[in-house]
Amino acid sequence: MTDRTLSIDIRKDLFGANEDAAELNAALFKKHGITALDIMGSVGTGKTQLIEALCEKLSKRYKILMIAGDLATTIDADRVSAHGVDTVQINTGTACHLDARMIRVALNDIDISKYQLVFIENVGNLICPAGYSLGVDKKIVVVSVTEGPYMVKKHPLTIKRSDMVVINKVDLAEAIGFDVESLIADVREVDATIPVISVSARTGDGIDQLIEAIEL
Ligand code: MG
Ligand code: ZN
Repeated sequence: MTDRTLSIDIRKDLFGANEDAAELNAALFKKHGITALDIMGSVGTGKTQLIEALCEKLSKRYKILMIAGDLATTIDADRVSAHGVDTVQINTGTACHLDARMIRVALNDIDISKYQLVFIENVGNLICPAGYSLGVDKKIVVVSVTEGPYMVKKHPLTIKRSDMVVINKVDLAEAIGFDVESLIADVREVDATIPVISVSARTGDGIDQLIEAIEL
């Protein structure tokens, strides 16, 4: 047995550095009166389509910046920029989530004072994005009816670390026999008070209610 053990909590150090960067981001957003939102959810849950639907309704009232996080491609940023919104794509390579330092780098050569609303689309993954603060006003988790009925039950920590739940693609629920009320009940079991908004980003149903819930 060794007489000297050096124990470094790498997890704690990594998260600590992230928290520091997140605080700097938050201060920057606050300084310029910007509302920043972290949109999290699995691949295919409709995060980009939701941001597109929100931009359609909000781009006349707010100057919007969208930051897209993906392992590769500019597909999501391209889709949102087609709505006349400024975008930045972060390609994370192998990282399965965005962290606060990536956001700092992305904002480096941007005049952030131009913007009033920032959407950050996190990497498609329902697990670790929730564990990293980015310095935003709200972390919004998107789940959809096409992912099967157990997404909430299987990811309680993600719900706990979020400020709002959006259930997307509710227009498809009846056709595939999906019980939206039961999914809402699963959320309620984890968090009795978190706002839950049902929408269809495709048809626009519920988007006004979502905008109201975000207080935009
Ligand atoms: Mg997307
Ligand atoms: Zn990750």
